[in-house]
Amino acid sequence: MTAVDPALRATRTACPYCGVGCGVLATPDGHGGAAISGDPDHPANFGRLCSKGSALGETLGLENRLLHPMIRCSKGSVERVAWPDALDHVAHRLAHIIARDGPDAVAFYLSGQLLTEDYYVANKLMKGFIGSANVDTNSRLCMASSVAGHRRAFGADTVPGIYEDLDEADLLVLVGSNAAWCHPVLFQRMLANKQRRGAQIVVVDPRRTDSAGDADLFLGVRPGTDTALFCGLLGYLAETGALDRDYIERYTTGFDQALARAQSIAGSASATALATGLCEQDVAKFFRMFAATSRVVTLYSQGVNQSAQGTDKVNAILNCHLATGRIGKPGASPFSLTGQPNAMGGREVGGLANQLAAHMGFSPDDIDRVRRFWRAPRIATREGLKAVQMFEAIGRGEIKALWVMGTNPAVSLPDADAARAALKKLELFVVSENVLSNDTVDAGAHVLLPAQAWGEKSGTVTNSERRISRQRAFLNAPGEARPDWWMVGEIAKRLGFGAAFDFHSAAEIFREHAALSAFENNGSRDFDISALKSISDEAFEAMTPVLWPHRSGDTEPQQRFFAAGGFFANDHKARFVAPEVPALRTETSAVRPLRLNTGRIRDQWHTMTRTGTSPRLGQHLPEPFVEVHPDDAARYGVADGSFARVATDYGRCILKVVVSERQQRGTLFAPIHWSEANASAARVGALVAPLTDPFSGQPESKATPASIAPYEYVFCGFALSRAPLELPAHAWWARVTVGGGFGYLIADNADLSGWSSWLRSVAGPELAEYSDFGGGVYRAASFAADRIETCLFLGPARDAGDWNLVKDLFSADALNDDQRRLLLSGKPTDGLASTGPVVCACFGVGRNTICDAVASGARSAGELGLRLKAGTNCGSCLPELKRLIAQAETADPEQRKLATAN
Ligand code: SF4
Repeated sequence: MTAVDPALRATRTACPYCGVGCGVLATPDGHGGAAISGDPDHPANFGRLCSKGSALGETLGLENRLLHPMIRCSKGSVERVAWPDALDHVAHRLAHIIARDGPDAVAFYLSGQLLTEDYYVANKLMKGFIGSANVDTNSRLCMASSVAGHRRAFGADTVPGIYEDLDEADLLVLVGSNAAWCHPVLFQRMLANKQRRGAQIVVVDPRRTDSAGDADLFLGVRPGTDTALFCGLLGYLAETGALDRDYIERYTTGFDQALARAQSIAGSASATALATGLCEQDVAKFFRMFAATSRVVTLYSQGVNQSAQGTDKVNAILNCHLATGRIGKPGASPFSLTGQPNAMGGREVGGLANQLAAHMGFSPDDIDRVRRFWRAPRIATREGLKAVQMFEAIGRGEIKALWVMGTNPAVSLPDADAARAALKKLELFVVSENVLSNDTVDAGAHVLLPAQAWGEKSGTVTNSERRISRQRAFLNAPGEARPDWWMVGEIAKRLGFGAAFDFHSAAEIFREHAALSAFENNGSRDFDISALKSISDEAFEAMTPVLWPHRSGDTEPQQRFFAAGGFFANDHKARFVAPEVPALRTETSAVRPLRLNTGRIRDQWHTMTRTGTSPRLGQHLPEPFVEVHPDDAARYGVADGSFARVATDYGRCILKVVVSERQQRGTLFAPIHWSEANASAARVGALVAPLTDPFSGQPESKATPASIAPYEYVFCGFALSRAPLELPAHAWWARVTVGGGFGYLIADNADLSGWSSWLRSVAGPELAEYSDFGGGVYRAASFAADRIETCLFLGPARDAGDWNLVKDLFSADALNDDQRRLLLSGKPTDGLASTGPVVCACFGVGRNTICDAVASGARSAGELGLRLKAGTNCGSCLPELKRLIAQAETADPEQRKLATAN
């Protein structure tokens, strides 16, 4: 283990959230925390961090940490055991199941949050030594369609461009990517290009997201029609002489078939408009912009990938870049934005079930090469089961042992109820995790192995532009937490494979990973980091971010791919792919008349096991919600701020309603972050159809047929407590971390007197109370010294009290007499005005404060920054500031506050 010097100095590391891969400086405070800032020398972010990265220091606590190995006993509870006992147990059970049912009866489900070294060792054990390729990862849900599209077109999973292209492009086309919220630091980089050089931005998305706020053209396509848009574009490029015939001739094959197919799908601007639901003028404008601009970067992420036709969408985009030769050149390239911090590292080692290792697949030559390199006794010779199919096989009882590392599939997989039910059928269910409890652990994991968390673990990650960065430990690992690679190695030794898994450090594993990338490569494979295969421990410790390829002997580092061909198919040519006619695989109906789109919000990450512990990040959008167009809201009888039941053929949720013009008619949007651990009825993964793309296996998470109906609650309100609360089973609730404790937003139909009894049971009998049961109002608080210990505010509809105000009082060190007396009014008083829901997470600036500043004359985000500091740090809230200004400007003075409050 790396011991961390307690001397207070900054450690250079990398952010554990999105695929931008920002460099972070972490300065331990000596008490288990750390000050966090952006690394000015990291080429992904040059010192900038978004709201999530900036709040990393708030997420280092040990609440809910899994600190020791645990095994579930026959009575159902988990009990602490010694590491050797846990490892012996796992190895013994694995060996038994493999001997009885064969290697395909076991599986690993990995995570884009793992380090490359963890991924490498897990992949090596399963594919090389157990002899199954049943290794898949939550990256399957993130970018598998990009991988499949790259491999079809380029012969390898290669991202051709680099981030500098975003600075140098004249046209940036964002397709299915709300980069303003999901890749904020890169989005700010694009805006800087727009401001500095006048780059134009086009946003293609069924939702008018915050990314569209700065767009020169917004194309609100119908769900699932991106392929038609880019087919129409390919035809237009051919018609108008905008093709690079020389590039097509010299470096590609299949153009004529792809063009013919494109023309049959969308043969003109008007046909494209018809197919996509856009107006013809907008389509024609986009086509002209693309055709006329040499330096164009098309960026795409989950809106393209998370689709049952995702691979075709990717190839339709790649076709247009290949046809114009705009690939791998400064400011000109297609660009897949990966969601996760190390999705790329997982792809490098072969962490997907349809890859073998080091960007090699399951061809006889690749299998033989990897077998010899690993000296593998029983290497897997065919692809394994991809995520959705893997959990279906678990449900059928075909896979009997599963090891989940660092991910939460009981929340995030489509048809998540079925996935959770499948977990209960396992004979051996191992989870290596940071947390003691989450939906997956609570689904009945038999063995819990405590993994090191961000700040404790050490190794490498690779970001969206192929840049390998060090994640470094700056805190000592608590309890008995260990690296995942160590756990896998210990199991491998117990299974009899000790010689191949005798790793003592992440550096050793990295050297072997680099050596495999170089093994019999000779330029035939894109992934080559041979220059690092002999890196010393000291050099690994000091390693600065490096782009791959990084070949030994290269005098000039290669930054981009394919500007002059050099593809990785046998003939070194790229393939144009003729996509299938785009058609969603599901139909809406009278029962399910809408399409449910799922996605991320600005300040949360995945299932909130880390971001959910930050008070700052919980302030922006604290409740699980569904966004609906005003016409649909009227049609289905749901009102802004009320509740609705959203149902699909797979499950149902109860969510807060946000009525918004930004949502397309006929569609709903719900965020993915809430789980059973932090909300009562908002596991949106349970609503998603388990339909997958035939090439990538990536599920369709953006267009499940759904219905929406009002759901009435008589009472709404909130509770705040220093300790976690178990709320009554009949209540709707969502938990949010607040300064000094936990907040619960509540709705319910039960009798208020029952709530009074419940509060006494959790807070004790000494309560200050205000009750008007007839009027439907109950407010109560208990105190310890001058601090609120627990409080509960319930009332009819929106009249429970001011959540933001009471939350601030709860977070205060001590209440003065006036504050204490006025607390139960739940209303702002002199000196206690509520600032409203927080928009700028960095400086805690609320909507009401921003609204007041706009009302008093602020007319730009810059002015708001000068007056309030809002938007002057990470910039994640800038799109929302601009939107609030625009809303307030269009509203009359009476409506202004209403508009900004909704
Ligand atoms: S953009 Fe934000 S979440 Fe993504 S890596 Fe950078 S700081 Fe982390």
